[in-house]
Amino acid sequence: MKRYSALRILKEGLSGHKGWQPAWRDAAPKPAYDVIVIGGGGHGLATAYYLARIHGITNVALLEKGWIGGGNSGRNTTIVRSNYSMEGNTAFYEHSLKLWEGLSQELNYNVMFSQRGHLSLFFTPGQRDALARRYNIMRLNGIDGEFLSRDQVQKMVPHLNYSEDSRFPIMGGFLQPRAGTARHDAVNWGYARAASALGVDIIQNCEVTGFIHEGGKIQGVETSRGEIRAEKIGMAVAGSTSLLAKMAGLGKLPIESHKLQAFVSEPIKPFLDTVVVYSAYNGHFYISQSDKGGMVFGGDLDGYNSYAQRGNLPIYTDVAGCAMNVMPALGRVKILRQWAGIMDMSMDGSPFITKTNIDGLYLNAGWCYGGFKAIPGSGWCFAHTIANDAPHEINSPLTLDRYRQGRQIDESGHGPFPKAH
Ligand SMILES: Cc1cc2nc3c(=O)[nH]c(=O)nc-3n(C[C@H](O)[C@H](O)[C@H](O)COP(=O)(O)OP(=O)(O)OC[C@H]3O[C@@H](n4cnc5c(N)ncnc54)[C@H](O)[C@@H]3O)c2cc1C
Repeated sequence: MKRYSALRILKEGLSGHKGWQPAWRDAAPKPAYDVIVIGGGGHGLATAYYLARIHGITNVALLEKGWIGGGNSGRNTTIVRSNYSMEGNTAFYEHSLKLWEGLSQELNYNVMFSQRGHLSLFFTPGQRDALARRYNIMRLNGIDGEFLSRDQVQKMVPHLNYSEDSRFPIMGGFLQPRAGTARHDAVNWGYARAASALGVDIIQNCEVTGFIHEGGKIQGVETSRGEIRAEKIGMAVAGSTSLLAKMAGLGKLPIESHKLQAFVSEPIKPFLDTVVVYSAYNGHFYISQSDKGGMVFGGDLDGYNSYAQRGNLPIYTDVAGCAMNVMPALGRVKILRQWAGIMDMSMDGSPFITKTNIDGLYLNAGWCYGGFKAIPGSGWCFAHTIANDAPHEINSPLTLDRYRQGRQIDESGHGPFPKAH
C-alpha cells in the first residue's frame, strides 16, 4: 500500500488524481484464521491492527455486519481526554491518550487529533471540590490538569453565560490541556487501512449469527457469509454485546443497551476552540466545534433500553435547555442533524477488556458513552490479551469478575445503575 504524503498529494493533484487506490482491501472470508475479531468499530479495528503490528498475528479476520464505523465509532461527539480518577481507569485512559498523540504518524493517516483542551465548568462549591479531588489525583499520576478561576475561564471562552443572574452562575473550571477531539471516520478508516496493509482481512456485510463450540472450546463462528473457523475470537460489538454474549453461551452480562444522541448545527464561523462541558442540576451538556464549523454537542442518555439508533424528543429539549443556559448565543443557530448510538452501559460505568470463562473467547465491552477516547488503548490492550491469553498490567483491573470481588470502578459514584453513569 502506497504511503500518503504531501508529495503524493501534489503528484496526484498534477496528474488528475488517477493514482489513488482503495484505502483497504475488500476481502472475502477465508474458511479459517488464527484470530477473528467481531465488530468493525474503532475497538475491533484497533485490535486487529495491534494484533498484526505488535504481535505479528496477521492471519486475522475483522467481521462487521454493516460497514466499518457504522456503529458508535462513527456516531459520537469525538471527545478525547484522560481525566479519570479511579484506579483501573487512570492508567488505562492516559495510555490511550498517549497513543492518540502519535496516532496519525503511526497509521500514516490524518486522524485530525486536535489537542484543543477539555474544560469542565463548575457551578457549586461541591462540584468544585469533587473536580479538585479528581484533578489532584490526575496530577499525582502525572496527568496534566489545571484549575481555572471564573475570570480565567471567561478569558479562555468569552461567550459563555457569565451573568450572575443566570440560573447556574459559572464559578470556574478544570482544564485538561492535552485533551481534545479527533475525526471519528478518519480513526476507523486509518486503522482499517493500516490493518489491511499488514494482511488483516476487513470483511464488511458479514454478520455473526452463531458460535461453533467443540470440545468445550470455541472453534469459530457462523455468519451470513458462511462458517469461519478460528481458535481465538474477540468480541467488540458495543451495543450488541448482550445479543452476541447470549449466542456465545456467556449468559447474562452486567451490561445494558441504552441510546445516546448527538447533535450537529449548521456550520458557523470559528466560535469555540476548546471542548466545554456543563453539568448542572438541569442536565448534562458537552460541546465542541468541528473543523467544518458545525457545533457538535450532546447530553445524557435517553434513559431506557433500546437497540434503535434514533433518539427521543425529551432529551433533545433537555440538551437545548442546557445549551441556552450556558451558551445563549446558540439560540440563533439551526440544528442540522441528529442521531443516536447504542451504548454498552456497564453496572459501574467502566469497561471490560478481558478473557471470558469460555476458552478462546475474549470480551471488549462496557464502554458506556466514553469509548471513543479509549479506541487506541483498548485495541492495544485487547490485542495483548488475545495474543498472550492473559491481560496486560494496564487492563488487568478491567475484568468481568470485579463485581464478584468487590472491585467496582465507579468513576461517577452513581452505584449499580447503568443508565446513571
Ligand atoms: C452520540 C454518542 C456520543 C458519544 N460521544 C463520545 C465522546 O465524545 N467521547 C468518547 O470517548 N466516547 C463517546 N461515545 C462512545 C463511543 O462512541 C463508543 O464507546 C465507541 O465508539 C465504541 O466503539 P466500539 O468499537 O466498541 O463499538 P461500535 O463502534 O458500535 O462498533 C461495534 C460494531 O459491531 C458491529 N456488530 C454488532 N453486531 C454484530 C454482529 N452480530 N456481527 C458483526 N458485527 C456486529 C456493529 O455493526 C458495529 O459496527 C459516544 C457515543 C455516542 C453514540
